[in-house]
Amino acid sequence: MKIRRHIGDYNFIADQESGMTFRWGKTFEDDPTFAPVPELVDISISNHCSKGCDYCYRDSKPNHSFMSLDDYKFVLSSLNHKKYGNVFQVALGGGEPLEHPEIFEILDITRQFNLVPNFTTNGENITQTIVDRIKGKVGAVAISLNNMHDIDNSKIQLLIKGGIRTNIHYVIDRSNIKQAIQILEGDYNNKLKGVNAIIFLTFKPSGRGNSELVLVNDSSLVKFLELVDNNGASCNIGFDACFVPMLMRFTKTNIDFIDSCEVGYFSVYIDENLRVSPCSFSNNRDSYSLKEFDFYTIWNNKFDNFRTRITNTCNQECNAKINCKGSCPYFPEITTCYKN
Ligand code: SF4
Ligand code: SF4
Repeated sequence: MKIRRHIGDYNFIADQESGMTFRWGKTFEDDPTFAPVPELVDISISNHCSKGCDYCYRDSKPNHSFMSLDDYKFVLSSLNHKKYGNVFQVALGGGEPLEHPEIFEILDITRQFNLVPNFTTNGENITQTIVDRIKGKVGAVAISLNNMHDIDNSKIQLLIKGGIRTNIHYVIDRSNIKQAIQILEGDYNNKLKGVNAIIFLTFKPSGRGNSELVLVNDSSLVKFLELVDNNGASCNIGFDACFVPMLMRFTKTNIDFIDSCEVGYFSVYIDENLRVSPCSFSNNRDSYSLKEFDFYTIWNNKFDNFRTRITNTCNQECNAKINCKGSCPYFPEITTCYKN
């Protein structure tokens, strides 16, 4: 299904099947300031997880809470703009979504709102039964990891054989950058068979994430970035918004076609306690409760403070400056090319 939205100077076309989006302002050369309706919503349906990954940015644990079904319905209804309709994409995360006791109902409710849910999982709970129950309901499933040797190929193949678009979310940090280089050199292609894309996520020192693992501007990162333009991975490669400044600065990626951090402008995060913030890494900064404020009051008014604070003060001589929002507002150290 295609979504078209033309509201004042904001123009947006999106294809729900491929996830491809196009956005422009008054003319094709302009960018709108922010979307009247967020394009992507990251919803944490729980902070409950039994796996205990050492990089978990939410410090999720087996005794943490779930979002109730009623609250989930309330979230989707709140996002539905009375005049302009609903958001384009919903990404479910946590915690571990597959440990939520009502995950199938959550997927069904999302479809009832004409939205295609995607979700991220640690992969532990994927079985044939799960695949049978989610196929046809999700756009894509992403499995998070930080070591290619942790991939359980049998689980990935269950998803792929079930016709589910399957991505790997690879959290890249100082300790595994050499393996990330090998991925781009094609050394792990046997593990990527049938995978749609490997998305590199920038490690953040949040939750259980150890600050000593933040990427630094060293020869390994330089080599990794050199390989981006000419990589040998057998599937598509992609990056989170946090990595975009480094792509803009050091690779041939066309800077007109990629967005640097767009949180609070085009995307938003809602946690299991119904707190709305620009990004899942805000850690309750710039955060407002849906129990207290209507969603569009938060989006249109409360986020003004955040938006006016974001200015690129980078001192580098850099061609990307015009398109780049500068360093991460929450963890500036992850933007390795930024110089104050
Ligand atoms: S605010 Fe920071 S952590 Fe969040 S998407 Fe932007 S760059 Fe990444
Ligand atoms: S303007 Fe600064 S932060 Fe942005 S891409 Fe260039 S060097 Fe990096």
